[in-house]
Amino acid sequence: MEQHARVWAMTRRDGTDVEVECGSFFAGERMLCERCERQAERDYPQGWRHSPGDVCRHGCYLGGASGPDLMCGRCENGED
Ligand SMILES: [Zn+2]
Ligand SMILES: [Zn+2]
Repeated sequence: MEQHARVWAMTRRDGTDVEVECGSFFAGERMLCERCERQAERDYPQGWRHSPGDVCRHGCYLGGASGPDLMCGRCENGED
């Protein structure tokens, strides 16, 4: 079975890479290894930007400090 990889998050000023555990948050973004990213794309077909499921099927970003509420105006109206 595939292992979770540590995920590249950023490069420091001295040129060394910062790696974090898959699934942890870095600078407000969920860091996922390739395997989890593929799984998230399957689990959240409506999309996601920072964390899985934070983009609705209309492409509206619904995440942020308060957490995703997963409803834009069009979602609330039941539009496709
Ligand atoms: Zn993973
Ligand atoms: Zn929507």
